[in-house]
Amino acid sequence: MSADLLTGDHHVHSTFSDDAHSTPAGNLAAAAALGLTELRMVEHVRATTTWLPGFVRAVRELDPPEGLRVSTGVETKILDERGTLGLPAGDLGVDAVLVADHQFPGPDGPWTPHRTARHLAEGGDPHRLLDRLLDALDRAVVHAAGRAAHVQVAHCFSILPKVGLSEADLDDAQLDRWASSLARSGAVLEVNEKWRCPAPRALRIADAAGIALVAATDSHIATDVGRYAWVRRTLTEVLA
Ligand SMILES: [Zn+2]
Ligand SMILES: [Zn+2]
Repeated sequence: MSADLLTGDHHVHSTFSDDAHSTPAGNLAAAAALGLTELRMVEHVRATTTWLPGFVRAVRELDPPEGLRVSTGVETKILDERGTLGLPAGDLGVDAVLVADHQFPGPDGPWTPHRTARHLAEGGDPHRLLDRLLDALDRAVVHAAGRAAHVQVAHCFSILPKVGLSEADLDDAQLDRWASSLARSGAVLEVNEKWRCPAPRALRIADAAGIALVAATDSHIATDVGRYAWVRRTLTEVLA
């Protein structure tokens, strides 16, 4: 099972994302050279993004080799505890929305890691904060499902180390609730090479709940496309 997952890369950025270095064609060539069977081309968007139709056209004009399925996605962060997403209005034209925890969803908008860490240092309750993150994620997944055929949870829990927490701070009841809610939603869950998350404990619970796992490098350069080390080890351990 894990070997199959590793022939896909469901999270690859191109120069349409301002912090990435390779073109869609360059990423496709890298995927083809490795013999990948699935490639999801994903770009960072905000509500104000205007180039999305150009991105979709650029991917559609690619000529993938036989046996390599190419799909598209947009990655956007959860903005607040209501699960609001920063997506452009209208038809997105992509196959998937990737929901990302780039900042901590606050009652009033995104909290920076610094602000979140300060809240904790001033006596904020980590358990309540984690509940808020899980609630926001649930709602964001529902919003995302209204905007594309597929929803993918990007590098879930990558925000935690940035605010001085870790997945170990999630109790079993929280992780069970997280997994059953994601399983009901039909969203797929990334196992992310760049951010090395979620951890094996959460992945085991997710797998047992029937959530589909996908491998993702979150590559920003073609030489990283489809190349797994942490994901390979982790999936081998979790799905053994
Ligand atoms: Zn991200
Ligand atoms: Zn990304």
